[in-house]
Amino acid sequence: MDGPTGELEDRSQRPLTGEFWAAVDRGELVRPVCGDCHRSIFVPQFACPHCQSTNWSYEPSSGRGRVYSHTTIHRPPTPEFDAPFVLADVDVEEGWHLLTWIVGCEPDDVCIDMPVSVRFVTGPDGHRLPAFAPDEAAR
Ligand SMILES: [Zn+2]
Repeated sequence: MDGPTGELEDRSQRPLTGEFWAAVDRGELVRPVCGDCHRSIFVPQFACPHCQSTNWSYEPSSGRGRVYSHTTIHRPPTPEFDAPFVLADVDVEEGWHLLTWIVGCEPDDVCIDMPVSVRFVTGPDGHRLPAFAPDEAAR
């Protein structure tokens, strides 16, 4: 993967996830939705894990959810990450989960079931990424 000073990969060409990354680059959050059982799917995959249908497409997400679980990373995988940071499994309100970061608060302030909403941040490789911050309006 290219570093921040290199040319960024065009993630919109990735199989299965290209449309997700293109939306993230526009500052929008989307998720795959099965056209047959109408459930949200994440991570994007060839067939719906609930009914095995290949008839799915991306639909907009509200970007609102709650912290399902979280952990604080004190020792980053590479020096480009600012540590400590919070890695979380967010239960997004359309019934899907996203492994993501919690930003906009101190790690000790993150708790289970905390309302959060999506923010877009620049990751260590220079790409825009979806993260979540405390949603004060939902408290
Ligand atoms: Zn399905």
